[in-house]
Amino acid sequence: MNIDGYTRTCGLIGNPVEHTLSPLIHNTLAEKLSHNLVYVPFHVEEGQVLSALQGAYALHLLGLNVTVPYKSQVMEGLLRIDELAEKIGAVNTLVRVEGGFKGYNTDMPGLYRAMSSEGIQIEGQEMILLGAGGAARAVAFLCASRNAARVYLLNRSLKKAQAVAGEVNEKTGKDVIIPMALSDYQRLPEQKFLAIQATSVGLYPDTAHAVIEDEAFYRKIHTGYDLIYKPSNTRFMQLVQKQGGKAYHGLKMLLYQGIIAYELWNNLSVSEEMASEVYEALKEKMGIYS
Ligand code: NAP
Repeated sequence: MNIDGYTRTCGLIGNPVEHTLSPLIHNTLAEKLSHNLVYVPFHVEEGQVLSALQGAYALHLLGLNVTVPYKSQVMEGLLRIDELAEKIGAVNTLVRVEGGFKGYNTDMPGLYRAMSSEGIQIEGQEMILLGAGGAARAVAFLCASRNAARVYLLNRSLKKAQAVAGEVNEKTGKDVIIPMALSDYQRLPEQKFLAIQATSVGLYPDTAHAVIEDEAFYRKIHTGYDLIYKPSNTRFMQLVQKQGGKAYHGLKMLLYQGIIAYELWNNLSVSEEMASEVYEALKEKMGIYS
């Protein structure tokens, strides 16, 4: 990497940022595409996110990613917000424009591109969505806007499931998200589903559990997509596979949310060949050799 007076800077703001894989995605892309660009993580303390934005603009940063806990909070400091991100209520990518930053959400299109690359379709599918947190909310928008047939949204807190379902159905003008308490999973219809696991249960270091342990539940799943990528074979994935279903982890979603951000900052398209090369680097870093 040759840093000189022309080097453009992008970065990540969040707290914590120490374990992020995003520098690997963006610095690999910059290197392979011979762009004079560097990507660095910035640890931003609580209460400092708006000052961080002003500083980033003053320092002529090209763009930023935003992670936990600032994906919603950062929105009040933006000049403009993309329509999709506005609907989702969360922003994970900021693009420098004249006078400030414009906010986007690349998590949702990232998941869509990741699923498409595995040949998984949302259109017309009967689905289960586990969770009603920030990620699940974006996934619910994705499913409704991509015309899933029906999505049973199961969450530990029924109130949160109802709130997310109500909001997504209203904003997309569709009546496809059906809220349920997690404990009511036995009431799901007897059929096969595409299931997306969007809770934090099973995330490293607490890897021994899945949000539902009952094998009967997993007999209803033909494909299980876990947003978690650490570990790369979660307990949820193991339970899906044990009942004959196909299972995927969330590393490709991470890859594509990063690639879409890089495309926005540099106004270009990243080829699938290049995406595969970056994915190999990510897998190597994670110790995934399959
Ligand atoms: P979040 O907003 O904190 O939501 C956490 C969700 O997990 C809530 O639905 C919560 O239910 C549920 N939950 C937590 N502990 C539980 C337990 N013991 N039993 C049952 N449910 C439990 O988190 P998030 O930002 O949505 O992230 C969710 C997951 O997605 C994380 O594991 C994250 O790593 C992953 N993710 C991956 C990517 C990617 O690029 N691959 C991107 C974003 C997120 P309650 O509402 O009842 O508390």
